[in-house]
Amino acid sequence: DLPPCDYIPEAYQGPSKEELLARRKAVLNPGIFLLYKDPFYPVQGYMQYLWDETGKRYLDAFGGICTVSVGHCHPEVTAAITAQAGMIQHAPTCYLHPAVVEFAESLVSTFPDPLKRVYFVNSGSEANDLAILMARLFTDHHEVISLRNCYHGGNAVGMSLTGHHTWKYPVPPMPGFQHAKAPHPIWGPIRYDTPGAGRDYAAEIQQLIQFGTSGKIAAFIAEPMQGVGGTVPYPSDYLEHAYAHVRAAGGVCIADEVQTGFGRTGTHFWGFENYGVTPDIVVMAKSIGNGFPLAAVVTTDEIAAKMSERIHFNTFGGDPLAMVAGKATLDVMLRDDTMGHCKLIGDRLITGLKSLQSRFPIIADVRGSGLILGVEFVIDRQPATAFTADFFERCKDHGLIVGKGGLFGSVIRIKPPMCLTEADADFLLGVFAEVLAELS
Ligand code: PMP
Repeated sequence: DLPPCDYIPEAYQGPSKEELLARRKAVLNPGIFLLYKDPFYPVQGYMQYLWDETGKRYLDAFGGICTVSVGHCHPEVTAAITAQAGMIQHAPTCYLHPAVVEFAESLVSTFPDPLKRVYFVNSGSEANDLAILMARLFTDHHEVISLRNCYHGGNAVGMSLTGHHTWKYPVPPMPGFQHAKAPHPIWGPIRYDTPGAGRDYAAEIQQLIQFGTSGKIAAFIAEPMQGVGGTVPYPSDYLEHAYAHVRAAGGVCIADEVQTGFGRTGTHFWGFENYGVTPDIVVMAKSIGNGFPLAAVVTTDEIAAKMSERIHFNTFGGDPLAMVAGKATLDVMLRDDTMGHCKLIGDRLITGLKSLQSRFPIIADVRGSGLILGVEFVIDRQPATAFTADFFERCKDHGLIVGKGGLFGSVIRIKPPMCLTEADADFLLGVFAEVLAELS
């Protein structure tokens, strides 16, 4: 259903785009890039749609950055936040508050055993920082392995884990972090359809442990599908082999589900389940709060017991407002089977994108599943980075917001609110066809 669009564009009272841009430039962190040449200025959101300051409507196929999970201003999430805001807005986790217990209970119900302990934090970066702390304390080792091309955050630990220069400041990295060569369906050395590809890619981790560490590691962390890195799934048996090497070296396995969790892959609620593995620590953010700043780490009783030898405290983790946002979001996901819906709409998109691929050879790969998809553009066996940037801008002109990313910036990322309809999917495919024709 379309929203009651309760402003008329001419009546929008906020500053003009030019004025806002100038004021922003004067005060705001100058390192935050603006995604579009003509900056995007959304002033209203409802479910999968956004309206800019002129009243133009857009289909939001990126959901913030893979964050708005059940829809912008979802009525039930809005109602839960509003009701809580009128009762008590803040209570630290060291007081008793039902909202934190209720959300923790429903969150752990989505996990297989033995993942039944929750820690609430405020962002994906903070969650990864905590996950690494847990792994180091529990194993009594300090060395950590992540993958090339991964993204795990912008704080000191997150940046050390992240495996792409774009996201790193030129400061000495924290000690103990190394990056293993990662699978990639186009740019990786082994084709995914080669027999034993998953095992052979995982051998990179074994090699790194053997030749680059003390032989005993604290942790291996991977996104079940690399997100910022361009929606990169792995060969189906990759994580099984990788986890075996890590555990043989005394390490624990961390799944960073910041983009892949909450049913987005359409086949399992958690991305790791698609590979038949169970990690020891799971990190989640983005989708968990439908846009509310909230993140969590879920782990085992054993790891939590080690953590409980000292105090682990943060001011906002478990804040009632964030908790009711998370609980209302999860209730909607479970009641409405958003995971099944992701599969349905994702399959329709994949079919449509593959049919575009047969018409436009610049599309080298369509990958992902459910509503976490990537389309990679390649010209003459080189990443089509400039083309991708133009494609991204043109989509916006046509009323479609998508994401961009990948090793070389040659991937368009589709990660919409999970309420995308069949008609929206067809609209997206129509825009892709038009833009491809325009740019070809
Ligand atoms: N992990 C992954 C997989 C992410 O995609 C991100 C954010 N893009 C993070 C961690 C960091 O999350 P945040 O920006 O909330 O710190």
